[in-house]
Amino acid sequence: MANLKLKLVHLYPLFLNIYGDIGNVKVLKQRCEWRGIDLEIEQLNIGDTLAEGTDIFFIGGGQDRQQVEVSEEIQNHKSLLIDEYNKNAVFLGICGGYQLMGEYYQPHDAKRLEGIGILDAYTVAGSTRFIGNVTAQTDFLEEENTLVGFENHSGLTYLQGDTVPMAQVIVGNGNNGQDRTEGARSKNAFGTYLHGSFLPKNPHFADYLIKLALQKRYNDIIELEPLDDTLELKAHEVVLNKAY
Ligand code: GLN
Repeated sequence: MANLKLKLVHLYPLFLNIYGDIGNVKVLKQRCEWRGIDLEIEQLNIGDTLAEGTDIFFIGGGQDRQQVEVSEEIQNHKSLLIDEYNKNAVFLGICGGYQLMGEYYQPHDAKRLEGIGILDAYTVAGSTRFIGNVTAQTDFLEEENTLVGFENHSGLTYLQGDTVPMAQVIVGNGNNGQDRTEGARSKNAFGTYLHGSFLPKNPHFADYLIKLALQKRYNDIIELEPLDDTLELKAHEVVLNKAY
């Protein structure tokens, strides 16, 4: 795929990278490289400036205290991030990062953490920490339509408006342990509670995101050369339907 380029900005990797969520960025980089697509990766840390023209944003998970720092700082970039969302940039947020893609996260006995509101969702602290393997089913992935990963969160996320679940929970708790939803999607913005890290065990979803980003940048549907995902799908199967 001669001369195709994409730009990814990794938001706050020094604060939100619990459970090695940076592995998601590595997978996107590698799967682009295997197809000759040049994925440029930049980091945005506290105090950095953010230019427009990003195709993919990634934000990982973290503890409440890191979320406090990021919640305050990300407000400086809120309007630009919303503009990019409206231009169909791809967003992938994991757990704590996912929570900050919504309207707010209300921890226990602490001030409310404002999000950027690209997902019409809110999160409140729960009394139970959900820790375990998750299997969920999507309705938008062609071949393999299950997603697997590991959850570790006490936040309970509730979706509103036109923000829809990313998947339905088969095993595990997902967004809140009540409505059997996992993650969220609005336009090309996705949030999920699945650590693992997530994309190495879900190569089909990684490719789905790459295709969305190419479509956004080149205004055209660009098919990706298939890869030998034997190992990745074996890892997927190991977790699939694994008892919680
Ligand atoms: N601090 C948030 C919670 O416990 C997010 C945790 C995470 O990112 N794993 O819900």
